[in-house]
Amino acid sequence: MTDTTIYYDDDADSTVLEDKTVAVLGYGSQGHAHALNLSESGVDVVVGLREDSSSWDTAEADGLEVTTPREAAKQGDIVSVLVPDTVQPALYEEIRDVITEGDTLQFAHGFNIHYGQIEPDEGIDVTMIAPKSPGHLVRRNFVNDEGTPGLFAVYRDATGSATETALAYAKGIGCTRAGVIETTFREETESDIFGEQAVLCGGVTSLVKTGYETLVDAGYSREMAYFECLNELKLIVDLMYEGGNMEMWNSVSDTAEYGGLTRGDEVIDDHVRETMEEILEGVQDGTFAREWISENQAGRPSYKRLREAEENHDIEEVGKDLRALFAWGEE
Ligand code: NAD
Ligand code: MG
Repeated sequence: MTDTTIYYDDDADSTVLEDKTVAVLGYGSQGHAHALNLSESGVDVVVGLREDSSSWDTAEADGLEVTTPREAAKQGDIVSVLVPDTVQPALYEEIRDVITEGDTLQFAHGFNIHYGQIEPDEGIDVTMIAPKSPGHLVRRNFVNDEGTPGLFAVYRDATGSATETALAYAKGIGCTRAGVIETTFREETESDIFGEQAVLCGGVTSLVKTGYETLVDAGYSREMAYFECLNELKLIVDLMYEGGNMEMWNSVSDTAEYGGLTRGDEVIDDHVRETMEEILEGVQDGTFAREWISENQAGRPSYKRLREAEENHDIEEVGKDLRALFAWGEE
């Protein structure tokens, strides 16, 4: 059916990590989940945080050993880099000399390796276990004896055992319970960034805003427009998540199905497809990566401006009012 390799619990050998220490750098979305799951899987974990980090007390209260990133990296045989991608290159320079031959540098996203922002020294294994899910779900699934699907890639196998180490790590955080798909740093990075721009984050919010504006500009109430274009999206996506597009088509009315089938490709027409192809090219040739790196170096001027415009969009205000009036999503 599929030509990709998927690894499960039986393909991973936990004993590989038995006399090793995993240093988890960062205690945010992914960091807290990896550290706690590994620790409960019996792996020796040390969390690396800045001394002024607000997460320090949280991680200690969670029963974990916490020290500075440099000290953690020194102790760690596997150093899992789970600070924000934009922070990773500077952090790597701080810890570079304590990551020594035979160690593993482990990532949850390939950006810095793929775009050359981190160039690890020779003799170090470079791997990726990237859960296809926010960290809080990686944690919740683990606690519920469930798994979280993930991606697995080896960028450099200096020791000859990078695959075994990475798969043991994936097992420790619960990903091999669900299955991890073998990929490359390039494929993970480029498809991830394309997906979040064109479909998941960028595409869908612009689709929602444009639909909302079209209704409101034509005189329909803001509340109706909000329900129709934003709130109901969750119900539709839940069906797609459960059983693909067909589950959704089978569940909506025939009128919705016929209207959707005839008009969907008019909205997302060839022009949109060409734009998506251009966006993908910008991801592949590094244009987007260079733009984002210089945006950060400049103190994020465009990011701040765009975020402010998003916060001030009418749909946010209506949403706040409506969510206060109705009790949904409280489970
Ligand atoms: P995050 O923003 O939730 O947390 C980052 C943590 O890093 C913070 O909690 C803090 O402990 C630490 N930190 C922040 N700034 C720092 C600084 N200047 N110096 C040192 N430490 C600092 O990060 P995240 O979303 O968990 O992302 C971590 C990695 O996981 C990234 O490579 C990301 O691409 C990847 N990833 C994230 C998700 C997700 O859903 N959040 C999913 C898959 C992969
Ligand atoms: Mg992603």
